[in-house]
Amino acid sequence: MNTFNSTTIRRDFPALQQQVYGKPLIYLDSAATAQKPQCVIDTVNAMHTQWNANVHRAVHYLAVQCTERYEQARETVRRFIHALSAQEIIFTSGTTAAINLLAFSFGERWVGAGDEILVTEAEHHSNIVPWQQLCARKGATLKVAPVDDSGRLQTDALAALIGERTRLVCVAHISNVLGIVNPVKEIVQLAHARGVPVLIDGAQGIVHEPVDVQALGCDFYAFSGHKLYAPTGIGVLYGKERYLEQMPPWQGGGDMIASVSFAGTTFADLPLKFEAGTANYIGACGLAAAIGYMESLPAAEAHRYEQALADYTVRRLSAIEGLRMYGAATPKTGVVSFTVDGVHPLDAATILDKSGIAIRTGHLCAEPLMRRFGVHGMLRVSPAFYNTPDEIDTLTAALQKVRKMILF
Ligand code: PLP
Repeated sequence: MNTFNSTTIRRDFPALQQQVYGKPLIYLDSAATAQKPQCVIDTVNAMHTQWNANVHRAVHYLAVQCTERYEQARETVRRFIHALSAQEIIFTSGTTAAINLLAFSFGERWVGAGDEILVTEAEHHSNIVPWQQLCARKGATLKVAPVDDSGRLQTDALAALIGERTRLVCVAHISNVLGIVNPVKEIVQLAHARGVPVLIDGAQGIVHEPVDVQALGCDFYAFSGHKLYAPTGIGVLYGKERYLEQMPPWQGGGDMIASVSFAGTTFADLPLKFEAGTANYIGACGLAAAIGYMESLPAAEAHRYEQALADYTVRRLSAIEGLRMYGAATPKTGVVSFTVDGVHPLDAATILDKSGIAIRTGHLCAEPLMRRFGVHGMLRVSPAFYNTPDEIDTLTAALQKVRKMILF
């Protein structure tokens, strides 16, 4: 491991200080949701205790202060992902809401009968189901690009599936099951060469990769705050202004209008056109605080540490007899998913839990990928920079014990 000091970092995360079942908590489920640093908790608390007022409405002091903080948070996100303009940052409740917004609005504008949407076999349900629903509404077809046995996305096959009727390519930046980093820049280039825009599902990517949407060239990028050490209930849809301008609003209500009469309604400019109702301004400020926290860390060292920890996890778990890992392709980061021969994932996760070890189990919201690998479920370990090699050692020993308990 490098010089990155995870012991100091851990002190910033109160949830990591607790015991469960009388054992120190070993939290290895950060891909599902990350724990929150004290500065994020403090920001949310200050928003509730000092700055709370509805945004974009009243002229009183608190409303103005709160609105400023909300719009500053938008600017923080813009800077973090290198978007051209804050108009391109739509706050949503998370990745799922961002993709549903896009599926509805983009779909209304540009998808019709006989058109195609292209996804990959390794997508999270959030990047499958909204597109299936859109296709069902419009009489369009969902096409699926395959992955190989190592989990690598077959970019040649994906390229071959982009045709005359393809309206959008939707691909995860990093798979939440395999941890494989997709060559998203290359995918954007080959889609753009055929005039097709690209959505990147960045729910995992935003956590582990520096994201520059202009350098990537993607047309849309979606992510959730809660996996990035921010509160739940806040997320982002980035979209190029020229697309967002032409897309109709998704939901109607307060804040998204310019003027309402019974004769008809006109809509607000970007980004508010897509933010109907009272915004989650407290979550947005929490997200800005989380980004500030991330930026306060030595980024390169944190990244190297996380990568080293993920590699160490792979090495340690590989030594366990009967353990099968999924997604051998590289680059790979953030998550390690596996099964153990003869051991039901749910049994293993339940026993590990009693040792204070929190890992994810089940279909990992990626049933098509489970089918691809011929399993009903997997176990998933997702270490973050606040985890330590000692915790991985404890996990490894506990898994050995689970095997013995169940198989002998
Ligand atoms: N996409 C990926 C790759 C994910 O890992 C997740 C969550 O695990 C999602 C989408 C959905 O995110 P959320 O539930 O925060 O909307």
